[in-house]
Amino acid sequence: MEIKADLCIGCGQCVIVCPVHAIKLKDNKAEINQDQCVECAVCYRDAECPVKAIRSKRLKWPRIIRSPFSNVITTHKVTGIPGRGTEEMKTNDVTNRYSLGEIGITIEIGRPGVGTYLRNIELFTTKLSKIGVEYEKESPVTAIIIDDKGHIKEYIKNEKVLSAIIEFKVPNSKITDVLNVIREVEKKIDTVFSVGIITRIMENGDIPIINLLSEEGFKVRKNIKANMGLGRA
Ligand code: SF4
Ligand code: SF4
Repeated sequence: MEIKADLCIGCGQCVIVCPVHAIKLKDNKAEINQDQCVECAVCYRDAECPVKAIRSKRLKWPRIIRSPFSNVITTHKVTGIPGRGTEEMKTNDVTNRYSLGEIGITIEIGRPGVGTYLRNIELFTTKLSKIGVEYEKESPVTAIIIDDKGHIKEYIKNEKVLSAIIEFKVPNSKITDVLNVIREVEKKIDTVFSVGIITRIMENGDIPIINLLSEEGFKVRKNIKANMGLGRA
């Protein structure tokens, strides 16, 4: 994104809407910090610039990878998926992505207000790959993992995005290893992240993972989504 300084009248509307505070006013002109900008296009769509000074410029590789992770109306070229992750965890009763005996896990790195550099993904994936997790094939993050050690392409590491979701599953027996990775990375990462754990409810109503997480010292907020999966009918 770019702002035509000769047109800008310094009204500040774009400064307010930018979700990562990448726009500042200097000498009554708006300026974008290109390192911080995640190419979400919110300023272009929502600032209602009175002089049409905000312009969407053609992005080159690797910067272009910022857009599909941050801009809700663009799509990842490799997976054809829009956004930062897939939606199938919400329709598990229809898709059976996670069967009995398996645990689905999402680690969402970055949020509006802070964002994340893609290098933060590797802090997790190099450790998770050692455990032997199964990454979700359709996930945009899986598409940028280049080897079985969990590395991502060197030249995209310093690209900043709004957020990215690592999606994978493990057998029940590996959940403690995954929790240890999360604890370890928490000490090193320079942004926020949240963990989602998806599991089937047993026929008697039990959710065994809750006891295990409590024993491991994690506070669990139960969040049940009754999704009919009608979009897949
Ligand atoms: S909305 Fe337009 S005129 Fe207002 S500060 Fe931003 S670029 Fe300048
Ligand atoms: S494209 Fe998004 S991140 Fe970049 S300046 Fe505009 S609102 Fe901010």
